[in-house]
Amino acid sequence: MDPSACKPTPFDGSVLLGADGATGRVRESLGIEMPGKDYASPALRIFFQRDLRHYVSDLAPVTYLFSGGRSCSLLQMAGGWRAILRLSEHTSDDVALARPFQLAELRRFLPIDAAAFENASADLYRSSRRVAVRNHKGRVFLMGDAAHLTNTRGGMNMNCGIHDADAISRSLIYSLRENQPGHVLACAEERLRVAHECLVPRTDTSVASPDAWFHSIRKLSTDPLKSLAYLHQATMLDMV
Ligand SMILES: Cc1cc2nc3c(=O)[nH]c(=O)nc-3n(C[C@H](O)[C@H](O)[C@H](O)COP(=O)(O)OP(=O)(O)OC[C@H]3O[C@@H](n4cnc5c(N)ncnc54)[C@H](O)[C@@H]3O)c2cc1C
Repeated sequence: MDPSACKPTPFDGSVLLGADGATGRVRESLGIEMPGKDYASPALRIFFQRDLRHYVSDLAPVTYLFSGGRSCSLLQMAGGWRAILRLSEHTSDDVALARPFQLAELRRFLPIDAAAFENASADLYRSSRRVAVRNHKGRVFLMGDAAHLTNTRGGMNMNCGIHDADAISRSLIYSLRENQPGHVLACAEERLRVAHECLVPRTDTSVASPDAWFHSIRKLSTDPLKSLAYLHQATMLDMV
């Protein structure tokens, strides 16, 4: 939805939940900073209509490929596959969006050919690693991208925002029903701790040093208990 295309509708209420995304007005109007850094490397996103299992028959619906310090993630979607490649920060947008470059980059990981690009589309995006210095002020609570941003590795950021929304709204209802305002404040603090201590370091490690991350995963795959502990973290069960 494009907010600028909507007619403003005034509401009266006693509590405001700011779930208006990274560039939303709520955090800005409260003067809450969101320090962090922007990742220098752009990510190239390509949607293929062609079934990539034509090239690798046993490709899993969510696949991470690593080669020579680089990585490529593949996600099976309705009507095709999405590939995400993290490029060198020196790659210009024009080069990155050219098909020959995309084919050469993908061939580092997959035995595909130019035919894979039939009806394909591509774009570039840049990600950041940022957490708001606080996620509540008075009776305003921030959640989702309004409170934390990270790279897309592991598919955690939206999930973390959904967890924020579930936890904070349940706690808010409890606080109002039981007249215990401290409950929702503690809950919001806990969501900020999760963003700082779990979300950002986890998503950052795998992107900052992909080879080291890959080798650590490979090593723990031989240990059932460590594998289980890793799955617990990768599925964010310890972040809810
Ligand atoms: C390429 C890519 C892949 C991703 N993959 C994953 C993934 O696999 N798993 C995952 O968990 N996350 C993923 N993410 C991250 C995920 O998309 C975001 O974390 C998520 O969309 C954030 O949701 P949000 O509701 O907080 O903010 P947004 O999605 O930004 O939604 C905010 C909404 O508020 C609206 N809004 C803003 N201001 C106003 C206003 N004044 N009035 C009315 N409406 C307003 C906006 O129009 C928008 O609709 C990915 C991101 C990218 C870029």
